[in-house]
Amino acid sequence: MADRCDIAVVGGGVVGAAAALALSRAGFDVQLIERGMPPALPSEEYDPRVYAIAPSSAALLRELDVWPQLPAQRLCAYQRMRVWESAPERALAFDAADVGESQLGWIAEQSQLLAALWRALPAGVARTNTSVDGASFEQGALLQLSGGDLQARLVIAAEGAGSPLRERAGIVTTQREYEQLALVAHVTTREPHRGLALQRFLPGGPLAFLPLADGRRSIVWSLPVDEARRLQALPQDEFHQQLASAIQFETGDIVDSTPRALFPLRLMHATEYVRDALALVGDSAHVVHPLAGQGVNLGLADVAELLRVLTGAREQRSDWAGARVLRRYERARKAANLEMLALTDLLDRSFRSVVPGLPRVLDAGLALLDRIAPAKQALIRRALA
Ligand SMILES: Cc1cc2nc3c(=O)[nH]c(=O)nc-3n(C[C@H](O)[C@H](O)[C@H](O)COP(=O)(O)OP(=O)(O)OC[C@H]3O[C@@H](n4cnc5c(N)ncnc54)[C@H](O)[C@@H]3O)c2cc1C
Repeated sequence: MADRCDIAVVGGGVVGAAAALALSRAGFDVQLIERGMPPALPSEEYDPRVYAIAPSSAALLRELDVWPQLPAQRLCAYQRMRVWESAPERALAFDAADVGESQLGWIAEQSQLLAALWRALPAGVARTNTSVDGASFEQGALLQLSGGDLQARLVIAAEGAGSPLRERAGIVTTQREYEQLALVAHVTTREPHRGLALQRFLPGGPLAFLPLADGRRSIVWSLPVDEARRLQALPQDEFHQQLASAIQFETGDIVDSTPRALFPLRLMHATEYVRDALALVGDSAHVVHPLAGQGVNLGLADVAELLRVLTGAREQRSDWAGARVLRRYERARKAANLEMLALTDLLDRSFRSVVPGLPRVLDAGLALLDRIAPAKQALIRRALA
């Protein structure tokens, strides 16, 4: 006899854990299946993986009562951001105060988010160390798990970019390798960050400096593969010099840094987000370039929409796991995700363009945009949404 539940969420990363929590709080009988162990307790050391959390994501986490559980001393609100190409004086500058807000977002560690989400899950919801060995989708879903079969009305795949359930369902994806690696580290800079995030578009890819709560900054530097490996292997002093020079000394000298980690970058979009009794969320459905810091934010927006659509249908006593309801989720999220995918891809490609003069035109565009207040305010509002 198979165990039964309303919804099986497969994958317990930030997006899957948030989906399991939100849907169980809404009264669905949920099981969360994670192939790994439960997330480790966050350590004193800052996690090398940090996320820029948008206000809309913070709002969902607040609704789930997870936001107040994040240690305040490890959350860094940032109020301002400057983006440029050729020279910092020509930057497009965003300030939360321009739109009457107190911050543009927060920088949070992945491990803190995961720990807080998992701690909030009701007892008996999570199954860890459990693999999905088979799945069929007829009249609901039947998952063959390493611990026995599980019957669900709906399966939510939150397995990250490689999503085996997406593959199993035969959902086609559009993919492109960026042939870039993101070099990630935390650095101590001579100048305090004062809640300012920086991003410079370089010919090899964008370089971002994000403020951390302990005064350091986290860097995400997208680079051609060979260049990323070369920079990773440099002695610390030399790396510090090249980094300070790349950001045109806007942070002052770099005086210390943590070990440098590399992450592969690619673009991916699933052509369908739903099938009978199956919905994709987060990186299982879309992977964006990290230059806009939007991956988790888009995933959490998927969760918020799925929650809205499923609870709405249940209130109206319609078949909440049925194709018509799932298509509503797909319609709403696909358009928004594609917009972000296209924008980040366009920005990355344009600034790295070999078309003579194009980066210069964009550089002028950033400087010009900075002087058009309504356009700038519209951009900030869009980023906060
Ligand atoms: C360098 C870099 C910087 C980034 N910075 C930002 C940022 O500032 N802001 C932002 O919003 N995003 C950022 N992102 C994007 C972000 O990391 C991803 O969008 C996010 O991790 C996706 O979360 P997820 O829960 O969908 O998938 P994942 O984090 O990949 O989680 C998937 C989970 O599913 C589990 N799993 C996989 N397969 C199975 C299976 N078959 N059965 C059971 N469990 C399974 C895995 O063990 C894992 O726990 C960045 C990405 C990179 C590479």
